[in-house]
Parts: sequence; C-alpha cells; structure tokens
Amino acid sequence: MKLAVDLHSHSGYAGGVGQIELTAVSRTMKLKGIDVFGTGDCIFPPRTEELKEELIEVNEGLFALPKDDSKFLLQTEVIFSTKLAHKRNKTIAHHIILFPDFESIYKMQLLMNKWGMKNTIGRPFITSDTQKELEDQLFEISNIHPLMEIIPAHVMTPDGIFGSKNDLDELSEFYGKFQPKIKAIETGLSADPQMLDKIPDLSNLTFISNSDCHSAALNRIGREFTILDVKQINYKNIIYAIRLNKVIMTAEFNPAEGRYFLTGHRADRKGHSHEMIFADELPQQLICPVCNKKMNLGVQERSIQLQDNSIIPISRKFMHLIPLIEVIAASQNLKSITSKRVREIFDIIMNIFPSEIALWQSDSIQVMLDKRVDQKTINQILAVKKGDFKFQPPGFDGTYGKLVIGDR
Ligand SMILES: [Zn+2]
Ligand SMILES: [Zn+2]
Repeated sequence: MKLAVDLHSHSGYAGGVGQIELTAVSRTMKLKGIDVFGTGDCIFPPRTEELKEELIEVNEGLFALPKDDSKFLLQTEVIFSTKLAHKRNKTIAHHIILFPDFESIYKMQLLMNKWGMKNTIGRPFITSDTQKELEDQLFEISNIHPLMEIIPAHVMTPDGIFGSKNDLDELSEFYGKFQPKIKAIETGLSADPQMLDKIPDLSNLTFISNSDCHSAALNRIGREFTILDVKQINYKNIIYAIRLNKVIMTAEFNPAEGRYFLTGHRADRKGHSHEMIFADELPQQLICPVCNKKMNLGVQERSIQLQDNSIIPISRKFMHLIPLIEVIAASQNLKSITSKRVREIFDIIMNIFPSEIALWQSDSIQVMLDKRVDQKTINQILAVKKGDFKFQPPGFDGTYGKLVIGDR
C-alpha cells in the first residue's frame, strides 16, 4: 500500500514562527495528500504535553486529532555536536529522531537530564567531548525502544553530516560503532538522490525526503515527501519500510533551488555591493574576491568531491517538484501565493483531484483540467511535471533559487 509521508517538521517552539495549530496542519495535509506527518519538536516538554493532550493514538504508534484522519508520527530534530580528535572545529550534525510512543519520549527526556543537556528549545543540542561519548549517547537513545530511528537530516547542507563545514570523508568518523544503525538519510532541499547515490557511505542506504517545514502553509507542508510501500498503516511498518528501503518514490526540490546549492556570497553581506556566485571554477581556498572572507562550499561541489564514479547506483525513483500553489502563482504572474485569484484556481483543482499528490501522479492532467482552469496554468503544471523548469540564479549563501518555468 502506498503511504505518503513527510517526517520532518517544526512547531512554533523552534523559533520565530508563532504557534502552528495541528488542525491547520491536518487541513493542509489533506489538500497535499500527505498521509503521515512528523509532529516536530516532540521532546521539548511543553510540546510533548501539547501533543499528548491533543492527539489520540489511532494506529499503533500513529496519532490523530479527534474525529480526524490525518495521522501524526512523533518526531523531533536534534543537533549532535562533538569534538572529533582529528578535526580542529566542532563537528555539528542535525538528525531526525522518530519515536514509537510517548513513553519513549519521556525516556529520552530523562537521558537529556542525565547528560545535563538543556531541553529548552524545539530543536535541542546534544553535545559531547569525544567521538566515543557521542557514540554512547547514540546507542543509549537507540536502546530506548527497538523501533527508535535516528536519521541524519539534510545531509549536504552546511550543518548536515556531510556538509562542507564538517568536511568528513566517511560517516564512521562521526558514528564509529553506531554506523550500522544508520539505515536512512534525508536528502534535504539542497540535494537529490542523483547527487547522493554515488557517495560510497550513502549508496546503500534508504533516501527519504521531508519538508523540514516551520509552517502549515500550502507551499511548505509536503514540499518534499516520500511514498513508502507498507503492509499496514502503523508506526512499525513505516520504520520497517525505511529500514528495508521500501521507498516507491521521493519528491524533491530541484537542488538548484536549495539555499546552499552554489558557492558564493550574497549582495547584502558586509563589504559587498554585489553578489558573487561561482558555478564551476572556485577561487583558491574559497576566499571571496570581494570581501576576502571564506565562503561555504556549495552543495553541488561538495557532493562531487564525495562521489565515487565507479559506484553503480541502485535505482531510485524521484521527481523534482514545485508546490502547486507556487506554480499557479507563477502562471498568473502573481508574486503572492495568498492572493485570492491563486487560491481560487487552487480550490478548483482540488475539486477535480483528491489531493495535490494525486494531481502530480495523474497522467490525464490536461483532460481533467481542460476548460476549467486557465490553459496557461495547465501548461505550467505540465511543464513542472515533466521537470521543465530551472532556477536562475540558483540558490546560494542562504537564498533560494529563483524559479523559471518552461522558457519564460
Ligand atoms: Zn536541521
Ligand atoms: Zn564575500
């Protein structure tokens, strides 16, 4: 059975976004066609209590609001920070952790207390002084319950495990003996399976894709997602599907849209009057010729550094996607996705297709939308479905790439 999951999000507690109601999340999930959604921030005590109060367990390990069929899975992101003996700087890597029940969350909170970690923000830090100490922490978390899952998040961004800041060549430098427990990675917005499947330590792992969203908006929830093949809809089957690579497909950002795709500096940086972007030839030591500061190596170059071209990748189905609401806005030359006209067209399409994912998977978009939606919008939806879009300029230095659909 196909199950569309988006297993990495954040709540209002992750900073700067205000409260996000689960009812609003559920509404968007239905429009998008996301069956199971990661709650975000589930180990932060006020959030834990909020989730416990609002949600009821409906399928073993999956939760829902009363009289609602959108399903939630208990999930947090944590930042592991450690000092590796052979690295000058600290190594910092974001991870998603999935929990089978509230009991396991409470055990995780006890571990945080025992280690003296501040659990005062949505996305907490777990620090250690040595690789061995980190390894022990990972085992202790994993031993809370056999169905706990720890997944490196957005692996190629600067704060992902293989990000340019960490400059690791192999996963074992970080995980040590824990490495065999890592069964899956999250591709993140800045990378897609094609960029990662020739990286030796990743080539045999499961790739999942999640939105990492901090909002219930239509262009945030499910902007990346994964379709898993499960026997039954419950937590255990989702974990098995992740561990055994039962991924039917992932939907990905075009990596060029991601905020760290190319190496460069934004125009609004100190000492800059214009932007600098480097697509192929990089300056010596990555020193920016304008401000003389070091730039972060873009995800594209970083992934090429790590690739081994002798690897024959296993086949992975994925598509590049732009949220429908953004495609509609672009087709109407409107900047805002909240404009009335954009929402009207979106609602017409949602009356024709059961969800956005159903639209993207349909082979009869033209027939179904013909004469009910502006032909220009249909053309742009078809162009996106074919992958006929690009980002010019691509994302760099924390800014998203600029969308161009077809040959406009
Ligand atoms: Zn993160
Ligand atoms: Zn600069």
